[in-house]
Amino acid sequence: MSNSNAYVERILDLVAQRDPDQKQFKDTVTEVLKTIAPVLDAHPEYEQQKLLERLVEPERVVSFRVVWQDDKGEVQVNRGFRVQMNSALGPYKGGLRFHPSVCLDILKFLAFEQVFKNALTGLPIGGAKGGSDFDPHGKSDAEVMRFCQSFMTELYRHIGPDVDVPAGDIGVGGREIGYLFGQYKRIRDRYDAGVLTGKRIDYWGSLARTEATGYGLLYFVKNMLDAKGIDLKDKVVVVSGAGNVAQYAIEKAQAFGAKVVTCSDSNGYVYDPNGIDLDAVKEIKQVRRGRIKEYVETHPQAEYHEGCKGVWTVACDIALPCATQREIDLESAKTLVANGVTAVGEGANMPSTLDAIAYFQEHKVLFAPAKAANAGGVAVSALEMAQNSERLQWTFEEVDERLKGIMKNIYTQAKKNAEAYADPDDLVAGANITAFSNVAEVMMAQGLV
Ligand code: NDP
Repeated sequence: MSNSNAYVERILDLVAQRDPDQKQFKDTVTEVLKTIAPVLDAHPEYEQQKLLERLVEPERVVSFRVVWQDDKGEVQVNRGFRVQMNSALGPYKGGLRFHPSVCLDILKFLAFEQVFKNALTGLPIGGAKGGSDFDPHGKSDAEVMRFCQSFMTELYRHIGPDVDVPAGDIGVGGREIGYLFGQYKRIRDRYDAGVLTGKRIDYWGSLARTEATGYGLLYFVKNMLDAKGIDLKDKVVVVSGAGNVAQYAIEKAQAFGAKVVTCSDSNGYVYDPNGIDLDAVKEIKQVRRGRIKEYVETHPQAEYHEGCKGVWTVACDIALPCATQREIDLESAKTLVANGVTAVGEGANMPSTLDAIAYFQEHKVLFAPAKAANAGGVAVSALEMAQNSERLQWTFEEVDERLKGIMKNIYTQAKKNAEAYADPDDLVAGANITAFSNVAEVMMAQGLV
């Protein structure tokens, strides 16, 4: 075993031994470290300076109690967290997730991913993630507001425009960002527009931020397909999820002429042979906050199936997982390959398990990994910070053009490093090598912190 491989194995053992229950964190660390041997080989000083030991340990983890009252007057107690993983490249940056599954394992995995994703954007942002086990489903606006106010009453002391800038994620959209921002402003008694991103346009949000992750995914996938001479036009696309990322992935895929035939939520999926009617999905999810099965009430040609995993049994050319982590396991990967999938683009974070990724790569499926393919959201969040700093708002077209340029650059860098150090089509390795090199160089320059 080479020195660098032995070093990586030691770090993976360390992670497993320190936090044996944090399986998703271990998976994402494994995915990154298993691909960066060429960089470690070229830089023996990284091991001497314990760079990997530092990278896998968050700079700071904040955990707090969130007490609030529901509409019946009952007291509710939730858990809140912020994992500030790495600030080498800039202020901590990463979303807040409100979902019953939220725990340290999930937030550490997301924060670790975020460090490398943010590095790929080329913008000055470190990596973090936070959230709560609070479930916004079925809660009234007033309950969500009281929860957000209580959450921010603790979080405010750990964030700021040059310290840590949270944004949305699962369960945290424009409504929640508004309540969180209002409470921050009240407590601090100042208008720090740049403390949160994903704000509404009428109070210093960025145009195209809502669309950015989904659009960015399609820009990345298009770059990947163009390089192989494959046209998106008329390709059959399967999308999972029906939230922010899924909706705008569908919108851009349709704009490129593809036919998107599915979307889903955590109860089940819809298959529409005529192509998904996106306006209907937006009406159900954005306006009524309803369930995706309501789609078939107005679209009789479509089918609704209980259980979200079934979405991967629908035959397609391109699969875009846009719901949540670990939604494509080995079995689903085998089904997709058997049905002739050509490309997979990850809109969600870590939606494919490690064995599913390996299976796609073995079967020469073009694979766009999350930290590269879904970096458009955080990239436009960083552009929102820039606009807030200059107290100006750019046009939709200007932000969208910059997003396109950033996604192209991420693809080009990942492809270049894949060709130089790994299988030329291995964008997992290419993206990890690019991101790790950027973060590692700067950490070394900043000394022992
Ligand atoms: P939303 O809350 O807007 O939507 C999430 C969607 O996924 C909903 O349709 C939800 O269904 C479904 N979902 C959630 N949990 C599960 C589950 N356990 N099984 C099946 N479906 C599930 O979130 P986003 O669209 O913002 O985020 C989706 C993914 O994209 C996440 O992995 C997130 O981390 C990632 N991401 C988001 C970015 C952003 O800018 N928003 C940026 C980069 C990555 P239901 O309504 O039933 O819960």
